Amino acid sequence: MSFFSERANLLKPSATLSLNRKAKEMRASGLDIVNLTVGEPDFDTPDEIKEFAIKTIKDGFTKYTEEKGIKELREAICEKLEKENGLKYEPEEIVVSNGAKHSLFNIFLSILNPGDEVIIPVPYWVSYPAMVSLCGGIPVFCKFNDKFKIDTNDIKTKITKKTKALILNTPSNPTGIVYEKKEIEEIADIVISNKILCVSDEVYEKIIFDKEHISIASLSEEIKNLTVVVNGVSKTFAMTGWRIGYIASKREIADVVAKIQGQSTSAPSSISQKAAYFAIKEGDRLFENMIAEFKKRRDFLIKNLSSKIKYPYPEGAFYMFLNFNDINSNLLSKRLLEEKLVATVPGEDFGVDNYIRISYATNMENLKKAVERINEFVKENL
Ligand code: PMP
Ligand code: GLU
Repeated sequence: MSFFSERANLLKPSATLSLNRKAKEMRASGLDIVNLTVGEPDFDTPDEIKEFAIKTIKDGFTKYTEEKGIKELREAICEKLEKENGLKYEPEEIVVSNGAKHSLFNIFLSILNPGDEVIIPVPYWVSYPAMVSLCGGIPVFCKFNDKFKIDTNDIKTKITKKTKALILNTPSNPTGIVYEKKEIEEIADIVISNKILCVSDEVYEKIIFDKEHISIASLSEEIKNLTVVVNGVSKTFAMTGWRIGYIASKREIADVVAKIQGQSTSAPSSISQKAAYFAIKEGDRLFENMIAEFKKRRDFLIKNLSSKIKYPYPEGAFYMFLNFNDINSNLLSKRLLEEKLVATVPGEDFGVDNYIRISYATNMENLKKAVERINEFVKENL
């Protein structure tokens, strides 16, 4: 007899995290692996944030906090949302959790009954379908158009009486594409006319090169009421290990999310919350160099990767989604790792099996090596 639940048995490990672990193990065994798997900034958390956290510990701010997170952090998030995204929220409409991943999980736990459907646009970040399934929901995949964005005609055919929500992720993981205002308006119209929720994952909003980020919730009061904005400090401030993410939503949703959090993790770490407060309060000046560096790397890859490799044009995040003459993604990723020591993530884990994802959140030296090796592979095989 298995002691494990069907839920646990059905779950696949996170491909991004497990491939990152594998690449690190191979590197530790002495192989010269270039690791383009995981999406986390290679920069260190800015010193000022660390110092603020150390001071927080020394001041003895080491106890449980309110379920929704400390008030000063929620107030700072409200100020940020108003100033940068044109969104007016009250602190009671914000819930801070252990990373945006946990925020998303809390939302699905809060809104899904068994059999409820969530529309997930393909290609998707690996964890969306797993989270929806873990919370008893059914992921329903929606096709992409020639720009790798949501095919709005397809969404319309996928909405049923069971549809609870649609996920929107811009800038996108795994493609790096960024939605235009008119495209977001079209998605908002669909959400409003079908009275479903939009879970708007905006964790890469600051890592954007050619455009402005637009939060779908900022388009009108009507869509704001149907949107749960998800964001965090992991990517923007190079704080992945601190585990702070948040949601902004109508009070009734925030209250249920806080109730679930109160019975599970209580709240995120008090120290990380203070560090996130400092980061959000200080804002842009802490990460401008990092964004400029990501842009330099993106431009380097576009200029130097073999022209035989096709990809949607990346305008944000730190990913590129590459197609090598339609070679199957598992095979391609395996061959690049074994033959060229370049670690990537197969597109199959993002719902598209003839693409692979590379993350350029790694230094220029590694990227130069990666380009050399990938182009060599292309020369030998395409
Ligand atoms: N959403 C997307 C699209 C992501 O790529 C990530 C990266 N892990 C997250 C959410 C979660 O980030 P975190 O939990 O570190 O805040
Ligand atoms: N979001 C990042 C990625 O896609 C981090 C790993 C994860 O949480 O999946 O690589």
